[in-house]
Amino acid sequence: MKTPLCDICRALRNVLCKECERKLDAGLLSEADVAVVRALTSLEFSGTSNECTTQSLLDGVVVSRAVDLGTRMVIFSPEDKKDNVKNLRQELESLLKKKIIVLGVVSGRPLLGKAGRNALDELLSPVKLHTTRAFKNGRESEKIVIERAGLKQQGIDEKRLENLVKEFLEGIEVSFA
Ligand SMILES: [Zn+2]
Repeated sequence: MKTPLCDICRALRNVLCKECERKLDAGLLSEADVAVVRALTSLEFSGTSNECTTQSLLDGVVVSRAVDLGTRMVIFSPEDKKDNVKNLRQELESLLKKKIIVLGVVSGRPLLGKAGRNALDELLSPVKLHTTRAFKNGRESEKIVIERAGLKQQGIDEKRLENLVKEFLEGIEVSFA
C-alpha cells in the first residue's frame, strides 16, 4: 500500500509523526488523506473474513490524495491502480460513512479536457451539469454550470468542490447556478 502518509504513521493509527504533522500544517497532507489511510489500515488489521485476502488486496492499493466533499470522499489513485481502491469501496464507505468516488490520475497530474469532464460527471452524479460556451480573450472556451440545488441535495460542499476542480481538473471552468 502506498499513501501520502509515511509507513510509521500508518502503523501509529492515532497520532502523526513530526514530519507528517508538518506536512499537514503546510497543507501537503489533508485531514481527508489521514482519514482514508486510517480506514485502509484498519481493514489491514481487522482480521475479519479472510485475512490473507485482505492483506493482498491492500498490497496493490495506492492513494495519491483524498478530498473530502462533505457526504462524498474522493480518492485519487494512479489510473492503473484505481481498481484496487475501487474493490474496497464498500468497506471504506461503511468505515468513513461517506460515498466513495475513486478517480484515476496519470502520474499525479491534473485531469485534462474530456477526462476531467468525465471525472466531474462521475464525481457529482446524479447532479446535473450543463455546458455553456463562452468567449474569453477571443477564444472559445467551455464552461460547466453546476446546479446548486443538486449539490445541496447531495450534501456536496460547493467551496470544496470548487477547490478540487481548480487543483485537479485542468482547463475546466465551473460556475454554479
Ligand atoms: Zn509520518
